Amino acid sequence: MHIPFHKAYITDEEINLVVDALRSGWITMGPKVMEFEKKFADFINKGSSKQIKALLVNSCTAALHLALKSIGLKAGDEVILPTNTFIATAEVVTYFNAKPVMCDIDYDTMLMDVNKLEALITDKTKAIIPVHFAGQPCDMDEILDIARRYNLKVIEDAAHSFPAFYKDKAVGTIGDITCFSFYATKTLAMGEGGAITTDNEEYLKSIKINRLHGINRDAWDRYTMKGSWYYEVVDNGLKYNSTDINAALGLAQLNKAEWMMKEREKIAKMYIDAFKGDERIGLPVVKDDRISAWHLFVIKVKNRNHLIEKLKEVGVGTSVHFIPVHKHPYYRNNFGYNDSDYPVANRVFELSLSLPIWPGMKDEEVEYVVDMVKRYA
Ligand SMILES: *Cc1c(COP(=O)(O)O)cnc(C)c1O
Repeated sequence: MHIPFHKAYITDEEINLVVDALRSGWITMGPKVMEFEKKFADFINKGSSKQIKALLVNSCTAALHLALKSIGLKAGDEVILPTNTFIATAEVVTYFNAKPVMCDIDYDTMLMDVNKLEALITDKTKAIIPVHFAGQPCDMDEILDIARRYNLKVIEDAAHSFPAFYKDKAVGTIGDITCFSFYATKTLAMGEGGAITTDNEEYLKSIKINRLHGINRDAWDRYTMKGSWYYEVVDNGLKYNSTDINAALGLAQLNKAEWMMKEREKIAKMYIDAFKGDERIGLPVVKDDRISAWHLFVIKVKNRNHLIEKLKEVGVGTSVHFIPVHKHPYYRNNFGYNDSDYPVANRVFELSLSLPIWPGMKDEEVEYVVDMVKRYA
């Protein structure tokens, strides 16, 4: 059997909507982008008293960059984030000549350890970027409480957590700004894409302008009959807009987001039932007051490297999430992180691997992964 680590769930619906976008004659940012933004916001707002709006961009990295720009991050500022994340979360801070400050993680949930957060705050700290690792929301009440006391902004990296819930609130409606990823392997796939959600009109205005060169209105307005040739550049913007082709793919994926979520939940439950009681295999821990999007299913085993090799031999794709930020040479050399400051992240990094969990995975395939993990753990 060959079971890839990930396979995007693409059907005729995706293909047909993308073809429609191509046939429409308008292939960059236009009506499909706006339709996606509206429907994505509606999805997030369901059951919320807030009026969250969504803006679509070409990646989560772009979303995080625009979010930090909208809060006015400056050179010399500091931003706190968990060391167990994809490099993009730290990278965007360096775009401003600001310093990414790493926080250790909790062993069980692998989320930012809120008990270690306050000690990292200095008079230069401007924001916290919690990462909802693997799909599970962070301890948002504790993080928001600390942020309010020190007057910090909270920008959530929700690249793994669409859809996910914290105490009945959808991720995307909780902190100041939330950034989602629609990269090929994420829970909603557009090839490349990202969204920003917030109810702050000032941030929305900044993000909308800066995703397209700092121009005060977008190309769609300019090229329609009611538009005119005149525009003004009001900020040093970026080229981060999405396209109607990507948005068409996203709209098809959004239609099946709930079903895809149920599929991942079902697979996670199968893994948990199969590995429960096997003390060689550490299972993911999701707290009672939250619902994970189950973007990743991460187990902890003593012989991690050996297991990855063996699984590869028998056709099971795996991955490691993540090599901690403080271990990467560029970051270590430029920001002087001490490996010994992150004992839990280091231990988790030695032990963890991610198993395949994607919609459309057949029961026999999940069972095969289980058998092979049990054979070689
Ligand atoms: C994938 C990922 C990103 C970046 O997403 P892109 O859309 O590829 O830019 C950011 N943070 C985390 C935690 C991720 O896993």
